Amino acid sequence: MSRISRRKLLGTTAIGILSSGLRRVLGAEPTADSPQQETLALAQYQPVSMLHVKETPVPRARYPVIDFHTHLTSSAHAVHGVSLGAERKIAEKPEQLLPVMERRNILALTNLTGGFADGLADTVAQYDKRFPARFYTFTEPSYNLFQQSNYPQLQADAIRSAHQSGARGLKILKTLGLYLREQTTTGSLVKVDDPRFDPMWETCAGLQMPVAIHVSDPLAFFKPADRFNERYEELHNHPDWSYFRDGYPSNAEILEARNRVFARHPRTKFVALHVGNFAEDLDNVSQNLDRFPNMYVDIAARLNELGRQPRAARKFFDKYQDRIVFGTDATPHGDKFPQQVFNDSLYQIYFRFLETDDEHFDYAPAPTPPQGRWKISGIDLPDGILHKVYNQNAGRLLHVAG
Ligand SMILES: [Zn+2]
Repeated sequence: MSRISRRKLLGTTAIGILSSGLRRVLGAEPTADSPQQETLALAQYQPVSMLHVKETPVPRARYPVIDFHTHLTSSAHAVHGVSLGAERKIAEKPEQLLPVMERRNILALTNLTGGFADGLADTVAQYDKRFPARFYTFTEPSYNLFQQSNYPQLQADAIRSAHQSGARGLKILKTLGLYLREQTTTGSLVKVDDPRFDPMWETCAGLQMPVAIHVSDPLAFFKPADRFNERYEELHNHPDWSYFRDGYPSNAEILEARNRVFARHPRTKFVALHVGNFAEDLDNVSQNLDRFPNMYVDIAARLNELGRQPRAARKFFDKYQDRIVFGTDATPHGDKFPQQVFNDSLYQIYFRFLETDDEHFDYAPAPTPPQGRWKISGIDLPDGILHKVYNQNAGRLLHVAG
């Protein structure tokens, strides 16, 4: 009912002309026995759904899974994702991860943040070499060398030596575009399509190393953190996640710079993480997938977006079934992101979303859905697409059997 017709109706119906006394008797207004409740703080509002709907547990994935997007190690010394040294912090030993993998039918984990130099070699030794075909490690740019005049060449060489150490691909964090700055008096942000990275992208093409790229962030993080912001609570809890600040580019500017990189390096395969970094706009992601045959996407940490548009998401999976890989963004100790802790329940939510037509369920483990107050529905993918998304597409990118 539109607002106007509702107002008109209220003005002409019995309800609209009830005396206040009668309204109280009928329970339409609070009485002394039922006082108006004080305003409830948003953070305390935890509604419990009264909806009775089907719940389909999916304890094991229908096909063995390659989780293309995890973080098993991180830099021991990092500022906003810029590794200041090669040393790695091991979040969890592989022996601790394998039981979850066995229970949930997870064939392999790709650790995107494997670092570089000695730290990378250590990571490969501890995971990939000890448990072949269960762990794959990616390298990261040596931003610590960025200020050197021959950085383009040094970075290309670093990719080659990372490949020799066993790195399967390159990971770009949103550091690029949002944190990495020139060491000049202006200290301006380095752009995603800065030509100093061109030899790095080309070297990845030559070595057939896919590039997993996360630039930008959810669109709501670029908007004012006010009462109209759909991620208000999250931004309220983490004010530093907002890029609605002077000196930051817009989401569109960052993605356009990224697209210029895709266009300039057609031989390099790019996996645009988090559904092309723009899951809120599947039309935009689709247009880019149509423009750039070298672009792929993963679904990590974006069930909230995909699952609140299940019919559009299902069409997206139908159309791009050869270019979508499974990923979670799981990290063993989710200190910053408790909803992404590597555990059994995280995986079961992903499987339920992909494999069932269940409706109105949480996109993240309890207690509070962290990325906006809504629920998701499953997209009930058929076997053929599930198989591709769970392992075949990632297998091709990593040059391993899916
Ligand atoms: Zn990630």
